[in-house]
Amino acid sequence: MPSPVQEIKEDLFSEKGVRVFVKREDLNHPVISGNKWRKLKYNLEEAKRLGHKKILTFGGAYSNHIHAVAGAGKKYNFETIGVIRGEETLPLNDTLAYAKSCGMTLHYINRSDYRLKNDRAVKRGLQLAFGESYIIPEGGTNNLAIKGCTEIIKELTEAYDHYCLSIGTGGTISGVIDGLDGKASVIGVSALKGSFLTSEIESLLSEYSGKVYNNWQINNDYHFGGYAKVKPEQLLFMSAFENRHNMLLDPIYTGKAMYGLYDLIHNDHFDPGQKILFIHTGGLQGRKGFGL
Ligand SMILES: *Cc1c(COP(=O)(O)O)cnc(C)c1O
Repeated sequence: MPSPVQEIKEDLFSEKGVRVFVKREDLNHPVISGNKWRKLKYNLEEAKRLGHKKILTFGGAYSNHIHAVAGAGKKYNFETIGVIRGEETLPLNDTLAYAKSCGMTLHYINRSDYRLKNDRAVKRGLQLAFGESYIIPEGGTNNLAIKGCTEIIKELTEAYDHYCLSIGTGGTISGVIDGLDGKASVIGVSALKGSFLTSEIESLLSEYSGKVYNNWQINNDYHFGGYAKVKPEQLLFMSAFENRHNMLLDPIYTGKAMYGLYDLIHNDHFDPGQKILFIHTGGLQGRKGFGL
């Protein structure tokens, strides 16, 4: 079932002559919501096809990806191992408590070792410790994840002038860009501080399809201090938005990207008459970590 698309109305949008629609990926799957479901779908199929019983993956203590893999493991009968950055803190936060309740084995590694997680030797070591596993990288980004994310676009029944979404590793936007195949324009609002994502996405795309697209850009202006940091004006924006539109946002990704979209509209980034699709990538489980 395609996730629904809904228009949101604001005086600001009518003043500027633009229309804004939201693709509700936050509603797309009961257990594994948002872009993480898109990213896992073909990976789960592949793990099954290869006969794997275990899935091993990586993430921080509040990771939506860890949450999604744990939920998927329980639902689709895989054993799951979550390699978690940093030390165990008890009691477990809501994300990890949920992961554990789904049966995920949590294995903590320190931050410097975590940086080496993509090393062949480190992966081999983990396979020896936990048994042969299907390994999914941090954030779930790989070619099969990108393939899954192209379907966010392929299932749309209307075209838009701009597509706007939050980005972390760049996997989701890579699928969106490839799915559009050069049409319209794509704006990725980075949830992280730093400007390394453009080259990261270029390499994801070249590995995925080898195609080069010029219809996308990364905006680095709305990270609010960096990954998982929040500022009062962001939280105020989020609660006002949620009250007006009866739609929740998460503080790490969609709350920042939506703030960015409003600000870009305010600053005349778009032309009158244009239609913008905001892709709500989900992540609502992350609200709990902020007491929301
Ligand atoms: C993981 C996540 C993102 C970032 O997706 P990438 O594919 O890593 O860029 C964006 N929004 C939400 C809600 C997420 O959970």
